[in-house]
Amino acid sequence: MSTSALVAEKVWEGIQSTHSVSDDQLSILHFLFGKNFERATRIVDQRGVKRILGKPSGRSIFQVVGESKRKEEYLCFPEHYCACYSFFYDIVNRGEQLSCKHQLAARLASSLGACVDFTISDDELALMLSQL
Ligand SMILES: [Zn+2]
Repeated sequence: MSTSALVAEKVWEGIQSTHSVSDDQLSILHFLFGKNFERATRIVDQRGVKRILGKPSGRSIFQVVGESKRKEEYLCFPEHYCACYSFFYDIVNRGEQLSCKHQLAARLASSLGACVDFTISDDELALMLSQL
């Protein structure tokens, strides 16, 4: 893992343990993720992060609203995957960013306990995952 990813991990853990974010933590995240982090905070402020929980397994996936007028939603795993274009282009292809704004929004909302939770059956969750 890169140094910046390790630093980010520590900051997320800190936020998760207190369910709040300090000015210092905000500046570190802003330093690491720049504009994407600003966009992510706007998404979280708009309650744009849904956490979909499968029952009974407790597995979860996030659905994060985009910022364009169409308000499309992207399925996303905060640490590993997002269905948006930027994830494939900037992160997987060019390796320029650590995470897209949807992943950051999902991570921030889950660390703060600011997700809107939905529960579905494991079968429905499996179907969603099969369509990724
Ligand atoms: Zn994304």
